[in-house]
Amino acid sequence: MLDVLIVGAGFGGLYALHKLRSIGLKVQAVDAAPSVGGTWYANRYPGARVDIQSLEYSYSFDEGLQQEWSWSERYAAQPELLRYANHVADRFDLRRDIELNTRVEAAHFDESSGQWLVRSTDGRQWRTRFVVMANGPLSAPNTPAFEGLADFEGRVLHSAAWPHEPVDFTGLDVAVIGTGSSAVQIIPIVAEQARSLTVFQRTPAYAVPAHNGPLDRDWERRIKADYAGFRARNRQMRSGFGSELQPHPLPALQVSDAERDAVFEQRWQAGGFALLGAFTDLFTDLRANEHACEFVRRKIRSIVRNPAVAARLCPTHPIGCKRLCVDTGYYATYNRDKVTLVDVSQAPIERITPHGLLTGGREYKADLLVLATGFDAFTGPMQRIDVRGRGALSLRDKWRGGPLNYLGLTVAGFPNLFNLVGAGSTSAFTSVITAIEHHVDWIADCLQWLDAHGHETIEASEPAEAQWVSLMNAIAQQTIFLGCNSWYLGANIPGKPRMFMPMAGGFPMYAERCAAVARDGYAGFVMH
Ligand code: NAP
Repeated sequence: MLDVLIVGAGFGGLYALHKLRSIGLKVQAVDAAPSVGGTWYANRYPGARVDIQSLEYSYSFDEGLQQEWSWSERYAAQPELLRYANHVADRFDLRRDIELNTRVEAAHFDESSGQWLVRSTDGRQWRTRFVVMANGPLSAPNTPAFEGLADFEGRVLHSAAWPHEPVDFTGLDVAVIGTGSSAVQIIPIVAEQARSLTVFQRTPAYAVPAHNGPLDRDWERRIKADYAGFRARNRQMRSGFGSELQPHPLPALQVSDAERDAVFEQRWQAGGFALLGAFTDLFTDLRANEHACEFVRRKIRSIVRNPAVAARLCPTHPIGCKRLCVDTGYYATYNRDKVTLVDVSQAPIERITPHGLLTGGREYKADLLVLATGFDAFTGPMQRIDVRGRGALSLRDKWRGGPLNYLGLTVAGFPNLFNLVGAGSTSAFTSVITAIEHHVDWIADCLQWLDAHGHETIEASEPAEAQWVSLMNAIAQQTIFLGCNSWYLGANIPGKPRMFMPMAGGFPMYAERCAAVARDGYAGFVMH
């Protein structure tokens, strides 16, 4: 009998295992993959790289770890991130409590014993008091149901299920479907090697340059001289990172055009998400947001030589409404003669043929098809498991209209079950490792409090859950996030209920709400 079973051994599962074990609990983590690393094990397509600077996208829980680890680049690439996950697993002796190649298919709460029964696809079972779902909000790849896909005679690769051996694009006609963060990283690299590349774009993306390169060692030394202070300052930011570039003191609409553009330019040169942190009203005022949109559109028009292609690449939705893409040479790739951009916004991909794709009455030939079509975010990974709570309530049924939750960490009707970086938390808007550490520390405190107070179970109450969801909705209403079809809204998956799933209130506000709930004796929860 376990105290805690953790589903997933990515960055969330690894830290949960370490932390919960360190407070004396008997903990077991399982992962479907043959390796630790989660997202950074699965997403190994060419160009896969983090979009938050590595000095920020890394664990802060152990001073020795953050001092000794040295990133080679400003934005680490997937192999280095995977090495980091493995290093953490070794350094904290985590492997002895991790079962790999173990896919959980069911987790049922047994009311008579107050325990969870967790079952894997190969028939193994665990009894546990608590379950921590660390299976990641972006771990269920989305493969659209394109007619004819099975009959395609070339190779089909999904960005999130990339093969382990290198893929050679030399001499091939390659088609990429999608222009989100994954595609934006894949496209420039495929374009270097392939004979031809055709990109099928439904919605153009805003992409800002990463300006990646070797990590500046002076900067690293400066951060490491007070890493704890740097992390603390980052936690005061809405996004949980980026404290070195504070927003302009005035809103975008209160400065002159020249000053606003100068600030945007400075942020463009800084690279990455800095642009979205330029002014505090970019996420709350569409007129302010439009200035940033137009700034990026001007950049696109200045980079892409063919005006018709540039026009097709210019997005019309608010910037940041879909996750901003961070790129290396994305727009310039469209200046290559061998790269073709096909707009499928009006005439969708009709079908995949044995030798290509059919859209707008024309067939585009391809030997290799890359699906960079994203994920069934937040709910997908949870609903692929048969989770049943009190009274055999199925999570799939409970979430039919959207992922109801309390604090993003728990769901009413599912006692002693916690979710990491899921719907209802700020996960998608923070450096995810900051969110993970916050959630795990909150859960660890909660479990210790339960024992200290003689409680066996904790469960969100339905009124608290309803209030949390209406708070999430009310905050989202005040932002620009409802103005496009993003995966935040479930709008990328046909038939998925439209609900804004992350908490858009910013990390400090979210963390304070969670802390207040704990201070108030876990207000909104029912304990037995
Ligand atoms: P995504 O952002 O959801 O992009 C999927 C793309 O596929 C979109 O362009 C989408 O078009 C297109 N698409 C989906 N179904 C389609 C269809 N039936 N026909 C035509 N086009 C279709 O997925 P992603 O690029 O994998 O990124 C997901 C998230 O993972 C990111 O937002 C980010 O949070 C994370 N990520 C991060 C990094 C990084 O750290 N650098 C890299 C990759 C991913 P629509 O826009 O019209 O739906």
